[in-house]
Amino acid sequence: MNFYFEAAKVLDKLDSKKGSIKGIIATVAEKDRKRTAALVIETLKYKPVLNEVLDATKLLKEERKITSRNLALLLIHDLLLANGIQAGDGPIKQGVLRHKTRLHGEFTRIKIKRGAKTNAELAQTDDSRAAHIPRYVRVNRNCWTVEDAIETFGSRGYELADPLTSIKAFAKDKHIPDLLAFHPQVQFVEDALYKEGKIILQDKASCFPAHVLAPPADEGSVVIDATAAPGNKTSHLSALMGNKGKLFAFERDRKRFSTLKMMLSKARCRNVEAVNADFLMTSPTDEKFSKVTHILLDPSCSGSGIVNRMDHLLESEPQNDEGQKRLAKLASFQLMMIRHAMKFPSVKRIAYSTCSIHAIENERVVRQSLETPEALDGHFVLAPQADVLPTWHRRGLTEEMSSPDDAQSLVRCSPDGDATNGFFVCLFVKRAAGGDAPAVTSKRRIEDETTDTTHKKRHKRRKKAVSDAQRAS
Ligand code: SAM
Repeated sequence: MNFYFEAAKVLDKLDSKKGSIKGIIATVAEKDRKRTAALVIETLKYKPVLNEVLDATKLLKEERKITSRNLALLLIHDLLLANGIQAGDGPIKQGVLRHKTRLHGEFTRIKIKRGAKTNAELAQTDDSRAAHIPRYVRVNRNCWTVEDAIETFGSRGYELADPLTSIKAFAKDKHIPDLLAFHPQVQFVEDALYKEGKIILQDKASCFPAHVLAPPADEGSVVIDATAAPGNKTSHLSALMGNKGKLFAFERDRKRFSTLKMMLSKARCRNVEAVNADFLMTSPTDEKFSKVTHILLDPSCSGSGIVNRMDHLLESEPQNDEGQKRLAKLASFQLMMIRHAMKFPSVKRIAYSTCSIHAIENERVVRQSLETPEALDGHFVLAPQADVLPTWHRRGLTEEMSSPDDAQSLVRCSPDGDATNGFFVCLFVKRAAGGDAPAVTSKRRIEDETTDTTHKKRHKRRKKAVSDAQRAS
C-alpha cells in the first residue's frame, strides 16, 4: 500500500499547487518514479469521473479508515481502469473492495450518461496548445558543442527544417544559440544523450534568464543562482560561464536539493557549489559573496504559464479570494527575493523570471521593486530592450508600468502564440558610478541573436532608454 500512499502525497502536493506535475514527480524516489508518474497521470486524466463515482458511492463516508480522498481516487482508478489494486490485503484495500459492485455500477452509469463507448472517451483531453510547442533541446556546452550535436542528429536522419512540419525535422533556435527545436512528439527521455547530460530538455523561454544574465566566462566570475532546483538554469549558467569561476546554487528544499545535485553532476558542472539553504537567510555581507556580480532569481511562482499535456489536467487557479490571496503571497515573497539580491555589495546584474502569466507576479513585482530603498540607493534600473532579447517581439504590459520604456525592457512569452510556455523575464542592472549607463552591456548576446535592427538604431534606442532611466531615478 506504500506505493499508493506515496502517489497520494504527489496528488496532495499538486492540489496545494506546490509545483508542476513534472517537478513534483521528479522528487519521488527513482525506483518508484516511472510507476508513480503513470498512476498519477492516469488518475488525473479520469479525476472528474472518479470523483463523481466516489461521491455517488459514499465510500469516504462509510469507510472511516480511508481518510484521504486522493488515496481513494488512486485505488478506484486501479480497480476500475487498470488491473485491480496492486497491494496486499489490508483494511484500506478491503474498505474499497467492499464497494466494488457499486463502484463498477456508478462508473457504467456515468459512461452511459455521457454516451462513451470506451473508457478512453471519459478521459480529459490534452491542451491543444502543447502540440504547437516544439520539443526544445539545449545542447550542454559543458560536454560538447552545438556543431557536434547538429552533426550527431544529422547522422540519425534528422534534417534542418521547420520542426513542426516533420518528425525528422529540427532547427537551430534564433534567439538562444545553444538551443535546438524538434517536433513536439519526439521524445528524448530515454535517449543516451539525455541520460549522459549532453542534452538538457528545457523550454525555450526557460533558457531566457541565463542568456539575459550573460555571466562572463572568466576564472574570476562569481555568480549566484538563488533558487536553483531542479537545476536547468544552473547548468545553463555553468555552461555560459564555460565551467569557470564560481557559481553558488541555492536551494532550500532538501529533496529538491538532492535532485539539483544529481542534475549538476549529470551535466558536468564543475564550477557550481550547491548550497542547501534559504537564500533569504544568506548574509549579503558574508565575505564568500563579496564578489558576486550576477544573480539569477527564478523564484517559486504560480506556474500559470506552463502549458503541457500533463499540467493541463490540473484544475486551474481559482479566480476567487483564495486564489488572489495566494498570488499576493507569492508576489510579496518574489519582491522580498529581489530586494535581498539587490543587497549584495558587488552585484551588477539580476535576472528575475517567473513561469507565470499574471501581472501581479511580473510587472507589478518589478515596478514595486524599482521603488524600494534597495533599488533607489543601489541605483538599480531595468536594462533597456537593446540588452534584453532585443528582437523578441512580446514585451511587458505597458498599462502596468510607469513608462512605455520600462514595459519595453520586459520580456513576456505567451503559450498562445510564441511556441513556448508562458514566461516573464527582466534584467535589473546597476547604473555605473556617475550614472551614465547600465553597468554592463552584453555585446556578445546581441550579436548572437538574429536581428534585423541596424546597429545605429540599437545604439539610439539604448541611449534613450538609459537617459529615461536616469530621469526617472
Ligand atoms: N530555476 C530552476 C530551474 O530552472 O530548474 C527552477 C526554480 S523553481 C521555480 C523555484 C525553486 O526555488 C524551488 O525549488 C524552491 O524550492 C526554491 N526556493 C524557493 N524559495 C527559496 C529560497 N528562499 N531560497 C532558496 N531556494 C528557494
